[in-house]
Amino acid sequence: MKLDKNWQAAFDIIQSLERAGYEAVIVGGAVRDYLRGQLANDVDIATSALPEEVKTVFSRTADVGIAHGTVLVIHPLSPVEVTTYRTEGTYADHRRPDEVHFVRSLEEDLKRRDFTINAMAMRGSKKIVDLYGGQSDLSAEIIRAVGNATSRFSEDALRMLRAIRFSAQLGFAIEEETFKAIRKQALDISFIAKERIKVEFDKVWISKNAHKAIRYVIETSLVEYLPGDFSKQAEHWSTFESFGNPVNGWAFLILLQQDENAVQLLNTFNCSNKEKKYVKQVLQAYQTRTTTGWTVKDYFEYDLPVLEIANDFAKKFHHSNDDLNSSEIARKKNALVIQSRSEIVVNGRDLIEWSGEKSGPWLKIVIDKMVDEILSNNLVNDRQQIKDWFLNEYPR
Ligand code: ATP
Ligand code: MG
Repeated sequence: MKLDKNWQAAFDIIQSLERAGYEAVIVGGAVRDYLRGQLANDVDIATSALPEEVKTVFSRTADVGIAHGTVLVIHPLSPVEVTTYRTEGTYADHRRPDEVHFVRSLEEDLKRRDFTINAMAMRGSKKIVDLYGGQSDLSAEIIRAVGNATSRFSEDALRMLRAIRFSAQLGFAIEEETFKAIRKQALDISFIAKERIKVEFDKVWISKNAHKAIRYVIETSLVEYLPGDFSKQAEHWSTFESFGNPVNGWAFLILLQQDENAVQLLNTFNCSNKEKKYVKQVLQAYQTRTTTGWTVKDYFEYDLPVLEIANDFAKKFHHSNDDLNSSEIARKKNALVIQSRSEIVVNGRDLIEWSGEKSGPWLKIVIDKMVDEILSNNLVNDRQQIKDWFLNEYPR
């Protein structure tokens, strides 16, 4: 495999640390993905050097997470995160450890990691350090906790969802003891911040196996301790496609709830305003699509991705079987006389001037009407014609 810039930078950094007398290795997801024949975007390094020591070895660094032992080394090829070997202290509340301890042993660092496939390291020589059978689990396509699964999930309950997330991303099964431990500890997921849970589901939605993840969420009984109802009409998840956008997963989840108040879930999971707006538009567009059908105004108001996913949901969930498809949607949208309000050659100020009235709520009503008329080809987007129409429709 030809190594890209990230990897070249990482090996170069390892060499510098080794020359300075420290141990350094590539760890975590990058090693896992490398062994699966894929180059990860993030290449993380772990080292025996303390953060202050890392900073003396390199001329350009940035403190990105010094409390957790992470220094960003700004290598000319690519910046790389370098984290001191550490163990984690006690976990009082089933989430973040109360403290982290820096250690000098790689073995200790690998032991705190969540799953065997994530607990391997690669040395500068490309030799793999695999203390927990990560390679054999990788070939058997299994997600297995490092050490005693129950205590690992009790330390950090998010790991239960991470197990499901990795199983969805990689298409792997969750090993039996690990699965049983999730069932046993499921309640602890309620201690985890909803935004951290959201991050895992975002990754589930864009994976190829969202339906399998939902099945695991149900079978492990995590579903009982998560907000909303992830089991609602769960059979439909096998038809779900995210098209690479995680927000489509949230939209689908809410659609399946068949409950007007379900959009509240977006607040619970701390979705951004942009995400909330998008989901609401998809649901509205779906609603119109499956009742009255879309008018030119709908093609105008909704962005193409919103129309496409609403149509996709309509086909799969509502069994709409007309022949509307993505290219037809794009064609209809492109065929609109105007693509946005800014293309109209007249603006609010013109209307105020022509009417001699003050600005007010009437303005929005007139503009909406004008847009409708232009879109339905009853009015030409031309200054004089719009002025005539306006003075005729709204005489003073
Ligand atoms: P991705 O490709 O999704 O980034 P990743 O394996 O890099 O996958 P991260 O969440 O970026 O996953 O974490 C990096 C590594 O840190 C993991 O591979 C794992 O070794 C360790 N890790 C992360 N979160 C935890 C956790 N909650 N408990 C134990 N180890 C963890
Ligand atoms: Mg990562």
